[in-house]
Amino acid sequence: MKNKMKVMRFMEPKVMKYQEEDIPTIGENDILIKVKSVGICGSDLAYYYGESPLDTPDGHGPLILGHEGSGVIAEIGETAKKLGLFTLGDRVAFNPVQQCNACPACMRGEFNACSHVEVVGTSVDGAMAEYVKVRYTHVYKIPDAVSFDKAAIAEPLACSTNAVNRLEVKMGQTVVVYGVGGIGLMMTQLVRAAGAGKVIVVARKDFGLEKALECGADFVINNSDTTSPYYATNVSEKVRAFNNGELADRAILATGNMSALQDSLTVTGACSTVVFFGLPSPKDVLSVPALANLKSEKTLKFAWLSPLVWDTVFKVIESGQVNLDLIITNKFSLEDAEKGIIYMRESKEPKVKGIIVVDPE
Ligand SMILES: [Zn+2]
Ligand SMILES: [Zn+2]
Repeated sequence: MKNKMKVMRFMEPKVMKYQEEDIPTIGENDILIKVKSVGICGSDLAYYYGESPLDTPDGHGPLILGHEGSGVIAEIGETAKKLGLFTLGDRVAFNPVQQCNACPACMRGEFNACSHVEVVGTSVDGAMAEYVKVRYTHVYKIPDAVSFDKAAIAEPLACSTNAVNRLEVKMGQTVVVYGVGGIGLMMTQLVRAAGAGKVIVVARKDFGLEKALECGADFVINNSDTTSPYYATNVSEKVRAFNNGELADRAILATGNMSALQDSLTVTGACSTVVFFGLPSPKDVLSVPALANLKSEKTLKFAWLSPLVWDTVFKVIESGQVNLDLIITNKFSLEDAEKGIIYMRESKEPKVKGIIVVDPE
């Protein structure tokens, strides 16, 4: 094997370097993956534009971004070798959130609350490179029918799956999904798979709302663009109109937009559940009318990361219950990764999810 690789390294806000570096040396508990595809996450955009600190000790680069990745196994550390877990060339994806397994949260299986977590692509070097090093416990073989491009975005699907599990949809229920980014469109399909009777999607852009219809939404509402055929001034009234006069049983937020969060409390009825997933800014505060929500015994939950769902994720991709082809709209090469990040933020063209194809199939 050669010992050099191409990487796109994030140096500081708005500066990335496409350069040649040494291929990472792996320890006994690691796997070296030859990267095929990497998803561009909204958080990568926030790091690139300096809106969010990295999870590195000082919050700064240099760091190779890329926490949503797939590839083939290029080298196997001693531990996994002894266990006979993998073969060179195995097709894999990885869970970037590498918990310590020893802290009190990990003892309870609450891996998303681990206090010593190491995250590939946000605290240690990630997959915007020809090779990435991941702990063997976080490398998962993928079914043959799942392409590398789809496997790369198994990570946001895993986060979506955790959020939908927390929503506890019951058969026949009416669910409102806010947001039509990659996560919103994944949730639209997941709540359907989980048994929702009616799925209503609310967002600001018709392109995304039409994608949501392709993803199985029954109704869509544009809550912002007055020229849209889907526009409604009052979302809760519109939900009632679509739902035999009733409010929704469930709402899930794939946006950190505070007015959507606030709105979700008004579209859901008594004994309903609302799950917040989208990322708000550190200063955002949600205000909840206490008495009204008490009397309607509403359940408000938050969902964070993707503990204990990865087995489900590959199964719902393989079964077609979630179609990720509808979600990947833009592809870039590794060399153009920085341009891709800028495009995903600044371009006015309709788009949902961008991926970097490091090594085309
Ligand atoms: Zn992400
Ligand atoms: Zn831990």
